Amino acid sequence: MNKKEYMKEYVIRNKEKKKEYDKIYREKNKEKTKEYYQKNKEQIREKRKDYLKEYVKKNSEKIKEYQKEYKKQNKKRIQGLRRLYYIKTKKEHLARAKAYNYYKDHNFVCVECGIDENIELHHPNYNEPLNIIPYCKEHHINLHNNLKNNGNKNMQIM
Ligand SMILES: [Zn+2]
Ligand SMILES: [Zn+2]
Repeated sequence: MNKKEYMKEYVIRNKEKKKEYDKIYREKNKEKTKEYYQKNKEQIREKRKDYLKEYVKKNSEKIKEYQKEYKKQNKKRIQGLRRLYYIKTKKEHLARAKAYNYYKDHNFVCVECGIDENIELHHPNYNEPLNIIPYCKEHHINLHNNLKNNGNKNMQIM
């Protein structure tokens, strides 16, 4: 092997070694960071909060300016979102109130297990406020988890 070849070999071998070493170092550090975070969770959170507070205080003018600019540029979008949110919550609210008034003297039982305590009314569709299905808390949560897993985002928890 001449010198050139040897150097080439050396670089390649070292690259592999370095890669291996970096990997181990990263893994070790990950564990350490995790451990450190777990041990100092509260302090870290407090520190972050303080830092954020300080940052906001120091940059309040800049932030205000930025928010103003953002609002100006996204006026239509913000208004639309606000309106959507208002309509949505209003609909839910009305559906809940209507169902509650209508059914308040009923003694519901969970359709899954027949329990009659802590019954929640499930609204498959807020456009039909009186169309409700009674569930106990546990089965209501189960139902929503299933709906979520099936990708049905139209179902709202109530
Ligand atoms: Zn529900
Ligand atoms: Zn149940």
